[in-house]
Amino acid sequence: MIGAGGFIGSHLCEKLMAETHHTVLAVDVYCDKIRHLVDPAPPHLAGRISFHRLNIKNDSRLEGLIKMADLTINLAAICTPADYNTRPLDTIYSNFIDALPVVKYCSENSKRLIHFSTCEVYGKTIGSFLPKDHPLRKEPEFYVLKEDESPCIFGPIVKQRWSYACAKQLIERLVFAEGAENGLDFTIVRPFNWIGPRMDFIPGVDGPSEGVPRVLACFSNNLLRREPLKLVDGGQSQRTFVYIKDAIEAVVLMIENPARANGHIFNVGNPNNEVTVRELAQMMTEVYANVSGEAPLDEPMIDVSSSQFYGEGYDDSDKRIPDMTIINKQLGWNPKTPLKDLLETTLTYQHKTYKEAVKRQMSQASAS
Ligand code: NAD
Ligand code: UDP
Repeated sequence: MIGAGGFIGSHLCEKLMAETHHTVLAVDVYCDKIRHLVDPAPPHLAGRISFHRLNIKNDSRLEGLIKMADLTINLAAICTPADYNTRPLDTIYSNFIDALPVVKYCSENSKRLIHFSTCEVYGKTIGSFLPKDHPLRKEPEFYVLKEDESPCIFGPIVKQRWSYACAKQLIERLVFAEGAENGLDFTIVRPFNWIGPRMDFIPGVDGPSEGVPRVLACFSNNLLRREPLKLVDGGQSQRTFVYIKDAIEAVVLMIENPARANGHIFNVGNPNNEVTVRELAQMMTEVYANVSGEAPLDEPMIDVSSSQFYGEGYDDSDKRIPDMTIINKQLGWNPKTPLKDLLETTLTYQHKTYKEAVKRQMSQASAS
C-alpha cells in the first residue's frame, strides 16, 4: 500500500488489520498516522504489517516490494487544492510522473493494481455553463457524474487549479490503456470528499503554520482557535461528503472481489450528503459548539476571495454528485452515515486531539 501513512491509508491499514487476514507492506515517506500499527507492530499484528519508509520518486526498492505483493494500492499523491495552483509542477509530477513506475511494475509483473484517482477528474458540471436560473440546471443529466458517460471539463491552462485533475486524468487513461493493451488487472477509485478523523493536519500543530489543508481541517482549525470560518468566493460551491469508514468498506469490497472490481472505475461518495460550503460551515459551527461546550462566535463566518485565500490560478468544481449505479451493481455498496453524524464523530475527535495543543501553540505565539 503506497501512501499508507496518509489519511485514507491509515484507515485502510486499520481495517485490514482488524477485519481481514491480509498482510500489508505499508509504504510512505512518513508513518505518524499509522505509528500505532507499525512502530512497533503490536504483538497480535506481528508479521502482518511492516512499514517501508521510501519516496517512490527515486527508490529502487519499489519494484521489489511490488513483486512481493499480490495487489498494489496506490494512494500516494499531492492532493490538497492549495498546492494545485501554487505548486503545479510538484502536483503534476506527484500525480502523473511518480505514479508511472507503479503502473509499469504492476503491468510488467502481472500484479493487480487499485489506483486512487479523484472525483475532480470530472471538473465542472455541464449545468455550470448554463445561465444561473436556467431550468435545465435542475435536470440530473446536467450535473450527476457518471463514470462511463460524463465528460471531464476543466478550465483553461492559466487556471492552474486543474493541474491536479489533468494529471489524474492522464494516469487514469494510462492505467486503462495498460488494461486494454497489456491485460493489466486494475481498478480505479474516484473518491468524492471522504472525511473523518486524521484528515490532513492542523496548521502550526502537526503541519506547517502557513499550510492550507482541505476544508474539513481548515474549518476545524478555525473552530479550535475560535476564529471565523473563511468562506471562499461566498461558499456557494456544493460538495457531497462521505464518512471515511463507509468509504473504506467500499475499498475492502474491491480488494476482496477482484472479479467484480477489475476493469472498473468506481465513484465512491455519498450523494445524500450534499451541502454548499456555507451550509457545511454552519453545520460544523453548530456541531462543534455541542461537542466542545463553547458558544459559537457572534460572527462565525467571513467571506474571502479565492485569490486572497489560494492565490492566482484558483478555480473550483461547482457541484459533485456521484452516480452510484456501477458500484451498487458490481459491489452492492451503499454509504450509510448522514453528514450530521459524521461531523459529530469527527469534531469530537478534533476537539479531543487538538484543543490543548492549539491553546499551547497560541499562547507560545502570543508570548514570542
Ligand atoms: P494524504 O495526503 O493524507 O495521503 C497521501 C499519502 O501519500 C501521504 O501520507 C504522503 O506522505 C504519501 N506520499 C505522497 N508522495 C509520496 C511519495 N513520493 N512516496 C511515498 N509516499 C508518498 O491523502 P488522502 O486523502 O489519504 O488521499 C489518498 C489518495 O486518494 C490520493 O491519491 C488522493 O488524490 C485521492 N483522493 C482523496 C480524496 C479524499 O477525499 N480524501 C479525494 C479525492 C482523491
Ligand atoms: N473552502 C473554503 N474555506 C476553506 C477551505 C476550503 O471555503 O477554509 C472551499 C473550497 O474553495 C472548495 C471547498 O471548500 O470550494 C472544498 O475544498 P477542499 O479543500 O476540501 O477540496 P475540494 O473539494 O475542492 O477538492
